[in-house]
Amino acid sequence: MSFSQDVKTEITQKKIARPCCLLAASYGAACFSRYFDSRGVVFQTELGTAAHYVKRIFHLCGIEGNVTSKQRPSGMVYEFKVDEPEQVRLMLEKFHCEPDQISLRIDPTLLRCPQCSAAFLAAAFVCCGTMTDPKKEYNLEFLSNRHNLARDLEGILAEHEFRPHRTLRKGVNVVYIKASEQIEELLAFMGAGNAAMEIMNHKVIKELRNKTNRLTNCETANMDKTATANVQVTRAIEYLKQNHMFDGLSQPLREAAELRLAWPDLSLSQLAEKSPQPISKSGLSHRLKKLERLASELQQRRTNG
Ligand SMILES: [Zn+2]
Repeated sequence: MSFSQDVKTEITQKKIARPCCLLAASYGAACFSRYFDSRGVVFQTELGTAAHYVKRIFHLCGIEGNVTSKQRPSGMVYEFKVDEPEQVRLMLEKFHCEPDQISLRIDPTLLRCPQCSAAFLAAAFVCCGTMTDPKKEYNLEFLSNRHNLARDLEGILAEHEFRPHRTLRKGVNVVYIKASEQIEELLAFMGAGNAAMEIMNHKVIKELRNKTNRLTNCETANMDKTATANVQVTRAIEYLKQNHMFDGLSQPLREAAELRLAWPDLSLSQLAEKSPQPISKSGLSHRLKKLERLASELQQRRTNG
């Protein structure tokens, strides 16, 4: 799966709690679908989970549509469609649309609570967004054929200080974000926290890699492995701290965590030598792994709850 698809899959797995946010998400999906007019909505995607996600959020708002799939030379294409006249009428009413001015502008009154904007942007991203692999470069973008919608979307992103830009590429409106920090924040805002964390990890690894330029290739490979492991543990410990789990840990785990935070760059055996209490490399490794496991369990619970 591409990084874009990872982000979209993560978004589609999040539950949306409030009815206002569900409506905002459905509205975002409609605005940034292939077609949205007086005949209904058509959304096409290569990602089956994305089509079913849009069907589900529409259904939870009381609007029924169908998902079909077609085999194309480039692969499977999934299509979500609302075209049954009664359902179209209901949808236009819920989205405050007059039949002659559909999808011209984003109606801000449909974004009612603070989380509504997040739900709207997340669903819009599922329908028209792409994100470059952060190993190559940082670029997140939304594509739309409709000029005013793209301009309004840029406005919503700017309001939340994500520093968007807008341009035309082959007649398509592109709203994009290049700064890695804003991309991380937007991904987290849209509910793709794991993707945001992955970008942070790549950044730290890149910095460490620059520092080790002088070393031979073989050494660099080993350092990368150590650096990746160290970054993961450090992130896990920081995550536990942020979520007030740190003080509840057993003393040996707390000591191991403090040690890693104090010397984030040292290899495991160097770190074991720094310990005030004698500890073996494997004993320390065991404790650090346990911390990672606790953080990932906590994150899993947050994601599901
Ligand atoms: Zn809401």
